Amino acid sequence: MPLTAKEQTTKQNKLDEIKAQILEQNICPELAKGATQLVFGDGSPDAELLFIGEAPGKSEDQQGLPFVGAAGKFLNEMLGLIGLERKDVYITNIVKYRPPNNRDPQPTEKQAFLPFLQAQLDAIKPKLVVTLGRHSMDSLLPGLQISKCHGQPKRYGGQVYLPLFHPAAALYNGGMRQTLIDDFMRIPKILAAIR
Ligand code: URA
Repeated sequence: MPLTAKEQTTKQNKLDEIKAQILEQNICPELAKGATQLVFGDGSPDAELLFIGEAPGKSEDQQGLPFVGAAGKFLNEMLGLIGLERKDVYITNIVKYRPPNNRDPQPTEKQAFLPFLQAQLDAIKPKLVVTLGRHSMDSLLPGLQISKCHGQPKRYGGQVYLPLFHPAAALYNGGMRQTLIDDFMRIPKILAAIR
């Protein structure tokens, strides 16, 4: 059932509060210093489908929005394949500042941002959380191997998750690219089956 205008505003207010807390508490000050800005999230607070990537890259750091570079273009194309646009979903990252030279986020950085990611999930209450790549998967579904569990929905602590390969990793790897597309195309059926 669609949310009332009041419920939607409440969700947006909660998201605004979480963003303000990250800034006030000066989370990962070293990363923050090297980044242009915080990349908090983008899309609908009313989304049933929420995507979590790794960390902002150069374009994301410049624009303040997640997945707006090459990987984002691929993500948008895959959303189109299942009849959705960015405004229909919510997109964020586990780490919300660009790491220097796009290095992998460190475990301490993922740990520091995890409570805020969890708060975003609690505010939005999506039906399905799609983790993109191993960094967001490890943070929320510890102990899984992406090569074995990609494309398989997992229920964990009352939330349904779908681990997928990261679009940036799949972009230039033909086999992985097709696997990601095939997994992605199953999202509508998986969503429809969630009670
Ligand atoms: N890769 C990510 O993991 N996140 C982004 O926002 C962009 C690229």
